[in-house]
Amino acid sequence: CGIVGFTGMRQAAPVLLDGLSKLEYRGYDSAGIAVRDGDRDTEIIKEKGKLAVLVNMTDGGKAVKGCCGIGHTRWATHGEPSALNAHPHATDDENVIAVHNGIIENYQELKEKLVKAGYTFRSQTDTEVAVKLIDYYYRKYGEGPVDSIARAMIRIRGSYALCVMFKEYPEEIYTARKDSPMIIGIADGETYVASDVPAILKYTRNVYYIGNLEIAKLSKGEVKFYNIEREEITKELTEIKWNA
Ligand code: GLU
Repeated sequence: CGIVGFTGMRQAAPVLLDGLSKLEYRGYDSAGIAVRDGDRDTEIIKEKGKLAVLVNMTDGGKAVKGCCGIGHTRWATHGEPSALNAHPHATDDENVIAVHNGIIENYQELKEKLVKAGYTFRSQTDTEVAVKLIDYYYRKYGEGPVDSIARAMIRIRGSYALCVMFKEYPEEIYTARKDSPMIIGIADGETYVASDVPAILKYTRNVYYIGNLEIAKLSKGEVKFYNIEREEITKELTEIKWNA
């Protein structure tokens, strides 16, 4: 139901937890974060219940090291509220890790195809199908994150705001959306992504609005946008004048 992502010079987990707390009013049943420390393995922490549970588990985020991460509060649509179904979801080797807002309508059909291609599903969510579909295209074509996300977008029916991390791109976050909101915030040396402005207003007032069926690549203090044809597109920065 809420998404926050961060890549920059400081610790990501406190930023993610703080940002998610600003989206709590939307309601949710579970929460989770994935944080990466350089080339090390990503830590994924997720649990059923309130954000406070996650805050306690991580000592306010201090126990999780790394400057790049994604966070999620879930309002379950497919699969009961549980730690297993909570986001982030990942491939078994953590090549692709993602959080998702929305509903993937044709998830059953896509799941059957992916099972035939050798994927095992660990949760009951529609989201896990998106994660494994992106991984499938990433491996099949070897053309990188934007290409694999674009190919998955062509196959997915429904609504989504997705934030994706790839093992081979440790300081980057990729995001895409269709009929679910997502914005990007930028500051000196750091980049934010969130499903709503209040999540990041404390850190920056400079935002980009991502259009439907567009993809963004976030690196520290920099963002690039692409259309579904994988062509780079330019966007205007907007300054937020109001207070949350
Ligand atoms: N459909 C996804 C799920 O049930 C995402 C729900 C949401 O937007 O939080 O896990």
